[in-house]
Amino acid sequence: MSAEGDRTREIRRLRAAGGAARIQGGKGKGEKGKGQREKGKEQRNAKRTLTDAKCEANSQAPTATDQRPTTMNLQGVKLTWLGHSCFRVETPGGRVIYIDPWLKENPACPAEHKQVKKVDVLLCTHGHFDHIADAAAIAREHNPVVVGIYELCAWMQKKGAKQIAPMNKGGSQTVGDVRVTMVHADHSCGIQEDDGSIVYGGEACGYVLEFENGFKLYHAGDTNVFGDMHIIHELYQPEVALLPIGDLFTMSPREAAYACGLLKPKTVIPMHWGTFPPLIGRPRELQKLVADMGVEVVELTPGKTVG
Ligand SMILES: [Zn+2]
Repeated sequence: MSAEGDRTREIRRLRAAGGAARIQGGKGKGEKGKGQREKGKEQRNAKRTLTDAKCEANSQAPTATDQRPTTMNLQGVKLTWLGHSCFRVETPGGRVIYIDPWLKENPACPAEHKQVKKVDVLLCTHGHFDHIADAAAIAREHNPVVVGIYELCAWMQKKGAKQIAPMNKGGSQTVGDVRVTMVHADHSCGIQEDDGSIVYGGEACGYVLEFENGFKLYHAGDTNVFGDMHIIHELYQPEVALLPIGDLFTMSPREAAYACGLLKPKTVIPMHWGTFPPLIGRPRELQKLVADMGVEVVELTPGKTVG
């Protein structure tokens, strides 16, 4: 059984979940359970090919082309969203960081970014395929420093990563020219092996990155809102927060808006939305919910660099 086969199955499963999401569409929250019950039926009936699933996913993927004016100040950091939770970050000193590298089969990743040209540091928030599918291959080809929770780093080493920098929540380390702090995320972290089995991958996490000029960026990973986001604000005060808003597998705009109240960032960049049909949260919904908080929501276009 190949990893390709596993991902194909996973994409089909997500496609099937999309059917469930559409069943829920336009109904009240009370009907959600019914939608969930329909999910199993949809999954059984899903006979689409991978190509079908990809076409549909592409049609739902973020495609905005007009970058609206923003007051966001990344202080010399160059940020490129590659769709889903994957970001390329270039530090003011020119080092290249990839966070949650899912490129080749990521429907929202532009073709010209599917191949990594240079990477110094690879940050992995957790072991789900839509976050680390390309991590081991990139590590073998480019030999970056791989940062992750202890168990995930051990798995990456087994898959051929030569430089691992394992850590755990609350810890910080300097990697290249960036101070990396691992923080909590409220999510799961199994890693699916090529044979379909799921191995323990530690826990899901988020990262606060402090660059050499003092600028701080928070990548929440996959997560629900949690009260300790207040502690992330108190201790680290990240100016810009990358938050998942897609719903189903992470928080939706409702929870993300509550998270903004705890994190108090200047800017929020939504992620983990639109990649697949079930990821129905949209930046404009979050924008409405945080309009009175003084938080700017910036919708990025995949492949377009800001900062
Ligand atoms: Zn996940």
